[in-house]
Amino acid sequence: MERMQQVVGRARAAFSSGRCRSLEFRLQQLKNLERMVQEKEKEILAALQSDLHKSGHNAYSHEILGVLVELALVMEKLPSWAAPQPVKKNLLTMRDEAYIYPEPLGVVLVIGAWNYPFTLIVQPLIGAIAAGNAVVVKPSEVSEHTSQLIADILPQYLDQELYPVVTGGVPETTELLTQRFDHILYTGNTAVGKIVMAAAAKHLTPVTLELGGKSPCYIDKDCDLAVACRRITWGKYMNCGQTCIAPDYILCEPSIQSQVVENIKATLQEFYGEDVKKSPDYERIVNKRHFRRIVSLLEGQKIAHGGETDEASCFIAPTILTDVSAESKVMEEEIFGPVLPIVSVKGVNEAIEFINSREKPLALYVFSNDKKLIKRVISETSSGGMTANDVLMHSTVRDLPFGGVGNSGMGAYHGKHSFETFSHRRACLIKDLKMEGMNKLRYPPGSQKKLDW
Ligand code: NAD
Repeated sequence: MERMQQVVGRARAAFSSGRCRSLEFRLQQLKNLERMVQEKEKEILAALQSDLHKSGHNAYSHEILGVLVELALVMEKLPSWAAPQPVKKNLLTMRDEAYIYPEPLGVVLVIGAWNYPFTLIVQPLIGAIAAGNAVVVKPSEVSEHTSQLIADILPQYLDQELYPVVTGGVPETTELLTQRFDHILYTGNTAVGKIVMAAAAKHLTPVTLELGGKSPCYIDKDCDLAVACRRITWGKYMNCGQTCIAPDYILCEPSIQSQVVENIKATLQEFYGEDVKKSPDYERIVNKRHFRRIVSLLEGQKIAHGGETDEASCFIAPTILTDVSAESKVMEEEIFGPVLPIVSVKGVNEAIEFINSREKPLALYVFSNDKKLIKRVISETSSGGMTANDVLMHSTVRDLPFGGVGNSGMGAYHGKHSFETFSHRRACLIKDLKMEGMNKLRYPPGSQKKLDW
């Protein structure tokens, strides 16, 4: 407890010194962060390889590229985002200054998850630094190599008091959560999200919860199945299915189910070759606990493709399940692995009903040539975000907020949305001491005024 108190206390003292308030300081720290990502690229890629068997290409495009793009955007736009924003004036405020002044919240806690262990820490960190906060960083212990690397390299590039890293697992996070923060951004599962929110409530600390869920993917009959299935295969089996916005399951009419299977099988062959185990582009399950959890979801299911597993190397082949019952175990929890169930529905009406009968997902996908059908699905369902005729891609559009709704989370970040998440929009009104006569109307005695009117 004392250690966490010290870490947070030091960060708070550093914040109170005022040094992270200046724009120049924030830009300098972001520049240092950029230099860290560039200079330590090899080490970052090696850690990702050790934790998740991520190949150089996948690791670079999934974890480093996005961070560099975000850094470039934030450094370019920060002066305008951080500037006071004047608001419209009226007759009474004509002579005043009225504006929104974005100010830092204070000490922010960022808790990351293991599936994209580098980016899930650094992306929110960028926003929190940009907004002028001190940030306590807690990477996931499950991705231990990346976690240790972050703890080693971050202090080499950033102000050590303002941006400390805490490593460790549940006991350390639990202790950390007893401390008072001014904002917490947590990425991980929904059950722990509730623990984080309960701990935050004790201090009235606002939270951004980046959680998960079962993201549905509806394939309409009227669509190019080859293209749809190639895109779905890419997003589903990327990172061995361990992507929070991966399509969790497919909804389609029974008449196209076998074509969907055939197209996905053909794409898997195209992407990973004859022996997926030998493909450098195919990752592994993070640990044995998750491996066993995913394997148990296959019990009693009709496996149309894949199903091979190897516990020693945490390998699970890309798997497709057909004629899956909505009541089965694999349809209860988020799969978070390379298993794709196909559930039959009679058409778009039933797909919408199915989606709405469950918790609000983090993402939703619909494939169709019919724009009206797509718009209907959007207007009649809810999800954190959505992409039509592709998967995952809404998360790469910097101007779109990234976050969940309902059970899949609250709040959002990325780009300007990160800056806003970690800022307080302070309402400022500056008047002068002249024109006192105008104020008579609002001063007592009220009875006098009635007479005047
Ligand atoms: P995890 O096990 O790495 O846990 C996340 C963090 O919570 C870790 O830092 C861990 O130390 C901490 N933690 C775990 N148990 C805790 C407890 N009892 N008390 C306090 N802290 C605790 O990650 P995970 O939860 O397995 O992550 C997978 C989930 O995260 C999936 O549901 C996935 O969809 C979701 N996810 C969401 C996003 C998003 O951006 N919305 C991104 C990635 C993952």
